[in-house]
Amino acid sequence: MITGWLFDAYSLEDRIILWIKNNKKTHRIEKQWTPSLYVASDSKSKLDRLQTNPAIKPFVKQFNKVNRIEKVSDLTKSKVLQITVKKSSELIMLAKNIERLDKFGAYRLYNVDVPPEQLYLYENNLYLLGKYQISNDTWNELSNINETNYDLPKFKKVKLEIHSKTKQHIPKFTDAIDKIRIDDITIKSDSESQMILDCVRMIRKINPDFIITSNGDTWDFPYLVQRASENKILDTLVFGREPNHPIIRSKRKGNSYFAYGQVHFKPTAVKLLGRIHIDQSNCFIWEHEHSIHGLYEIARTCRLPLQTAARASIGKCMSSVQFYNATRRGLLIPWKPTVSEIFKTRKNLFIGDRGGLILEPRVGTHENVGELDFVSLFGNIMLHKNISAETINCKCCPDSKYLVPELGYRICKRKGIVPESLKILLSKRQQYSALVETTKDDKKLETYKQHKAALKWILVTSFGYLGFNNAKFGRIDAHMAVCAFARKLLLDAIHIAEDEGFEILHGIVDSIWIHKDNATKNEYNKLKEKIAKETGFDLSLDVYDWMVFLSSKNNKITPVPNRYFGTKQNGRIKIRGIEARRHDTPKFFKDCQLEILKLFSTCKTVSDVKEAISEAKSIQEKYYQQLLEHKVPLEDLIFTNRVTRGTNQNKNNTVQSDVINQLKWEGKVVEPGEKIRYVVHDYSRKKSKRVIPIEVIKSDFKYDAKRYSELLEKCCKSVIEPFE
Ligand SMILES: [Zn+2]
Repeated sequence: MITGWLFDAYSLEDRIILWIKNNKKTHRIEKQWTPSLYVASDSKSKLDRLQTNPAIKPFVKQFNKVNRIEKVSDLTKSKVLQITVKKSSELIMLAKNIERLDKFGAYRLYNVDVPPEQLYLYENNLYLLGKYQISNDTWNELSNINETNYDLPKFKKVKLEIHSKTKQHIPKFTDAIDKIRIDDITIKSDSESQMILDCVRMIRKINPDFIITSNGDTWDFPYLVQRASENKILDTLVFGREPNHPIIRSKRKGNSYFAYGQVHFKPTAVKLLGRIHIDQSNCFIWEHEHSIHGLYEIARTCRLPLQTAARASIGKCMSSVQFYNATRRGLLIPWKPTVSEIFKTRKNLFIGDRGGLILEPRVGTHENVGELDFVSLFGNIMLHKNISAETINCKCCPDSKYLVPELGYRICKRKGIVPESLKILLSKRQQYSALVETTKDDKKLETYKQHKAALKWILVTSFGYLGFNNAKFGRIDAHMAVCAFARKLLLDAIHIAEDEGFEILHGIVDSIWIHKDNATKNEYNKLKEKIAKETGFDLSLDVYDWMVFLSSKNNKITPVPNRYFGTKQNGRIKIRGIEARRHDTPKFFKDCQLEILKLFSTCKTVSDVKEAISEAKSIQEKYYQQLLEHKVPLEDLIFTNRVTRGTNQNKNNTVQSDVINQLKWEGKVVEPGEKIRYVVHDYSRKKSKRVIPIEVIKSDFKYDAKRYSELLEKCCKSVIEPFE
């Protein structure tokens, strides 16, 4: 009998491997299992012939005729062909072979592109980091996936860094290894192969559960593979717990993809077996070492293996919960999305495309401002209004009285798959919010904060995902329905506030800012309760001593009017859309802006802030002097940008292309969506080397103090000018 937490799961050929970890030992459990795909066809004879087809048969372990719900909108199950493969790795190849047999659409394929280990978890109702007691292949669940206060075993984590013998230039895979660091241990030797062997031996000896790298997917591991290959010791490169499975070089470099108006780049993952590799730079939620708790929560709640959760891109976590619920329902997961969109009149398109409601802010300074935010608005709309691909204009409820405002779509009376999947995320997030407010234990508090942040992140991305073309259970009509409800809710909130004598200062998607002369916190609170009661949706309230809304007109980067800052009654500053908040702003500017805002946050009224302006200007002057005297450390002056075009796609003479070209001369290829980091060298130059990528900075480098002071000026102006 084994008791412990499910730590890792992966498929190897015809088996599934599950690792159970407790505080004493790590157990490996191996089972014969391969996944199944499902095929449906309007022609029964086509399905029958498939079973004898010589292009198909060699890959198949078993054929079965089974009853499943084929489409999410279907009301009954239908007969489909279940094909269990001989080897997990051949699932997609088999699906492609079937598709090629006939014209497109003759065979409809399901459960093809979901990773096999995830299918295994869904089918067996298991989740990562769940606690189980296992005897004779019977798994007894000792934990509950809905718990918020759960124990985990003690994990051993190490940091791994591979350093090459390069200085001041971009390290290349052809450079020899200089040294290897595992936590505080340094491995250094004249023999490169000896260093690699020592590293592998050391990892085996320490036997960590987690290997954490800064760039392991793009640098440390691919580089090690290259060096091991040069030294002809590739087969020794075992970093996981599975002997005879050295890490191998992926054929792909990664993917560029488009999301939320930006090109992103996702490098190919280096995943280990039975051990978890986290590449901090490739992990969405990674900010500091506590972020690992957010990762635990995602893996657990969304039933994703830790290494998948660590690299989960937009929508993956949410869709994993949906796949689980689909599997429990007997609903198949389409390989390619099939739900058709409702034909849209021009009017509907116009209404639907408006997205969230935005009111132009009353630009300038305000005192005693209340901010009301609907909590997880989009998720809660989907949950409480039952919005899902299959619930919009369903076949089963032609007389449904649940209608989408403006659009008039009918909503099904049966629970949709999207709301069903959101329930656990929304409910846990709400519980963590409450725990964050009440917990006194500092260590637990940090864990709850991370859990809450991770769920919030999934919920924010889940909404966009509902309308994604490639989402399995997504549909643009559902997306439009959510927007319509959101607009109605915000308008309702505005009307209630106005009826109560409040003035509306600004409104955007799920928040409104309001003011009433001499209104007390209690009055704001009463209004909040009233709106919550009348709309049925929860809100949160913040009251500000003073607040500034900035104009959005001269800000091309943020297209929505969402630029403001202010001080809450509890003294905390809130900032949106200005430099200090943005990821691409160098630390130097952020520091200066925050120092000024910190000074302002001690002021109770706008006139107090006005009096503090001269002090703010001396802060600005202090930073300005540091720049002129070249005392600012270079790392505080680095700009970070995500590039839209990669190497060889650059035509214009922009700062980005300047960086990309210099990297190209050093042999580094930049993919669309990758981040570049640079400092300003001489902004007055016409063409190249106006800026320098940090990878090629020389030790005698001097930054362009003039350009940086111009930017400093602008940055201080954003927070000081509104008061002048
Ligand atoms: Zn219905």
